[in-house]
Amino acid sequence: MSASPILQLESIEVVYEQVILAVHGVSLEVGAGQVVALLGANGAGKSSTLKAISSLVRAERGAVTAGRIRYQGADITHAAPDALVRGGLVQVLEGRHCFAHLSVEENLLTGGFVGKPGRQALKAGLEQIYHYFPRLKARRKSLAGYSSGGEQQMVAIGRALMARPRLVLLDEPSMGLAPLIVDEIFEIVAQLNRVEGVSFLLAEQNARVALRHAHHAYVLESGRVVADGSAAELDARGDIHDLYLGGIAA
Ligand code: ATP
Repeated sequence: MSASPILQLESIEVVYEQVILAVHGVSLEVGAGQVVALLGANGAGKSSTLKAISSLVRAERGAVTAGRIRYQGADITHAAPDALVRGGLVQVLEGRHCFAHLSVEENLLTGGFVGKPGRQALKAGLEQIYHYFPRLKARRKSLAGYSSGGEQQMVAIGRALMARPRLVLLDEPSMGLAPLIVDEIFEIVAQLNRVEGVSFLLAEQNARVALRHAHHAYVLESGRVVADGSAAELDARGDIHDLYLGGIAA
């Protein structure tokens, strides 16, 4: 990988409840300024890998029991989740998780209090998000609970961006959404990467759309990396599509 890594995983192992081995010796890298996809079927270990990085795995009685995770060169294997967010590493969880009874704008603001910003900084943060997600500006006073699935996914990503991240861990952004909305969300992710320089590690079952927007990809099966390469290389390998990616051709 050409860009210097912002994130490195060295042979990590994730165990739940002290017995369930979900991730087994996974090594991967995200180059600074890159979009990297983590592909694989249901239960392959994608979410567990992301939660190991953000330390959220501990909230589910899980632990990183072997290996090392480095972010910007520092060992963060056992870092506290809030310290990681302050350091610019933010996860968008699978399933969107908006506050249904808050407005779209209030949801965005909940992501903005990292580092105690002033009123002007919060306003600038909101303006930046509305620039990338004009739909959210139009709906900013509406309750998030009444928004469509696609808009809720945009709120979840926008809330993460309010923390001014350098690396976003994005879990299944396409889940349950119509293809046109999925394309719109991935286009915005690609723009945030190109224009703002935000790096992304995104877990996806939808290999077709992920490979179209990622620079590099890893394929997980039963908690192990079974293939990796540039997105173009993996996309061109019919065997990878057939064996691991549900036979979805590009
Ligand atoms: P999905 O797309 O369904 O989220 P995934 O690739 O993200 O799949 P994980 O959710 O990481 O996969 O699951 C990997 C393995 O770990 C599975 O066998 C799953 O049952 C197990 N697992 C995940 N979360 C927990 C948990 N909180 N407690 C126990 N086992 C878990």
